[in-house]
Amino acid sequence: MISAGERVLLVDPRGKRYLVKVEDKEFHTDLGILNLGELIGKPYGTKIKSHRGETFTALKPDINDIIAKMKRGPQIVHPKDAGIIIAYAGISPGDTVIEAGAGSGALTIFLANAVGSSGKVISYEVRKDFYEIAQKNVELAGFSDRVVLKNKSIYNGIDEEEADHIVLDLPQPENVLPHAVDVLKPGGYFVAYTPCMNQVHRFFRALEEFRGEFMKPRVVEVLVREQEVKRECMRPKTTMLSHTGYITFLRKL
Ligand code: SAM
Repeated sequence: MISAGERVLLVDPRGKRYLVKVEDKEFHTDLGILNLGELIGKPYGTKIKSHRGETFTALKPDINDIIAKMKRGPQIVHPKDAGIIIAYAGISPGDTVIEAGAGSGALTIFLANAVGSSGKVISYEVRKDFYEIAQKNVELAGFSDRVVLKNKSIYNGIDEEEADHIVLDLPQPENVLPHAVDVLKPGGYFVAYTPCMNQVHRFFRALEEFRGEFMKPRVVEVLVREQEVKRECMRPKTTMLSHTGYITFLRKL
């Protein structure tokens, strides 16, 4: 049942989505005015009409809805990359993941969803303004129970004594290697997301000093090509999100 104060996703007849807080108040759209109070005590899937007779459906928002609508600071890690990070590193319910930098908190939210309520994500963010944005976004996603944000640089060290995985989206992941070898459990993953090739190359040079600490690294780039399906023709969409970043996976020995 939908309660007052909860956030719901309203979908209009064109498929346009609105993330709204359910309160006894009006919500104005270009398809008319809705009375959000009508949703209180109703199940998800309830349909309400605007004063112009247009039907809107109320759904429970998932993490992708939250991430699409939340305030952003820096560029986020996209779902295609977050999915591969979680799958290839085997991030599972109950895991403790150390992350940096939190940025807008998008990857933090994907990780928090994967570790579940029995897991923990401890995320370092050096910039106060981004730390505050990430904090609000984690709260919006309902993951404050399992996410601890720290407004500090991970380059200076990791406070935690043990972690199942370390996931980084910051300019110089190689600066975290000396701390990671002490903290990462055997079998755990060190994941570095970097937009540029030269960052990967620099990381690999730094890795030479850590021979024997990790299994052979794996680097991937994820391309997702959406399809356009029409009655007479199916083909790839003419535009796509092409390059986002390279993802390097290291497994601790
Ligand atoms: N992954 C984030 C998301 O999905 O919203 C975006 C991360 S953003 C591209 C990179 C972040 O790393 C920035 O917010 C930056 O301030 C932070 N950062 C850079 N160096 C850092 C450090 N040494 N320790 C912690 N955070 C750092």
